[in-house]
Amino acid sequence: MAVPSDKHTQAEIIERRDFSDDLWAIRLKAETPLKFTPGQYATFGIIDGEKVIERPYSIVSSPYEESLEFFLERVPEGGLTPRLHELQPGAKLVLRKVAKGRFTLDTQSGHKKHFMVATVTGLAPYCSMVRLLYQDWKEGKLPAGWQVVVLQGASHSRELGYREEFERYAREAPWLTYIPTISRPWEDPNWSGEVGRCEDILRKYSDQLNLAATDTTAYFCGHPEMIEKSKGILLRRGFPKESLREEQYWVQK
Ligand SMILES: Cc1cc2nc3c(=O)[nH]c(=O)nc-3n(C[C@H](O)[C@H](O)[C@H](O)COP(=O)(O)OP(=O)(O)OC[C@H]3O[C@@H](n4cnc5c(N)ncnc54)[C@H](O)[C@@H]3O)c2cc1C
Repeated sequence: MAVPSDKHTQAEIIERRDFSDDLWAIRLKAETPLKFTPGQYATFGIIDGEKVIERPYSIVSSPYEESLEFFLERVPEGGLTPRLHELQPGAKLVLRKVAKGRFTLDTQSGHKKHFMVATVTGLAPYCSMVRLLYQDWKEGKLPAGWQVVVLQGASHSRELGYREEFERYAREAPWLTYIPTISRPWEDPNWSGEVGRCEDILRKYSDQLNLAATDTTAYFCGHPEMIEKSKGILLRRGFPKESLREEQYWVQK
């Protein structure tokens, strides 16, 4: 497959893992390796005749990994994701050679507390950040006093992709708290964890875990409505705008 421009490289799907009917993860091996900072996104897609259909996707893997990982949701009427969903290992994609985005860890403010809030695939950038922090911690490079709280919301527990991975890190790493929550517990009778949307329980956990406006940076990623409501809650709690970072995955109509 020829790439459509010198801004693109070819990437092969080398692994696929399905979480539910509409949620899955892929690993890509790019012909030209991509440099990135955790939290950034890559843009990839398919060639359709003369056109390239491509979209931005937050990178799940950490820069220590050899391949790139992504956490994807099929949007039923979408231009790209139904077609991506059909692809299996061996399929070729086109990938932009440059990763972009400013939704990265706040290492400037001096804040040691980081409150990361996601809906479903919005966990992707935090996964990259936490994988890197975990590795740093293992090597004794994580500065003392760091506290990372990850709140992931979904409708049902099967949509909480990467839950096992985060639970594993959280059991081991004293600096990490992971809170999965579902908003439709009546459709998920075996669920015994937290219930409610992220924005419903945000205030409770920021109080319980002492995530104060003076020492915490908050991050919101995914659903535009969650981002808007959550930001409002923390702004009313006195968080300055500079301490709130966001990555909105689509625009609410
Ligand atoms: C910086 C950035 C990072 C992103 N990272 C990820 C990621 O890691 N994983 C991921 O799955 N997506 C991510 N997205 C969304 C992704 O870029 C596409 O918008 C999404 O995959 C839909 O593409 P599509 O071509 O299938 O649908 P489109 O044809 O582009 O969109 C169809 C309609 O669906 C809306 N829409 C888009 N996504 C959703 C959604 N998840 N739920 C409901 N409605 C939606 C669009 O606004 C549009 O109205 C990211 C977006 C941005 C801006």
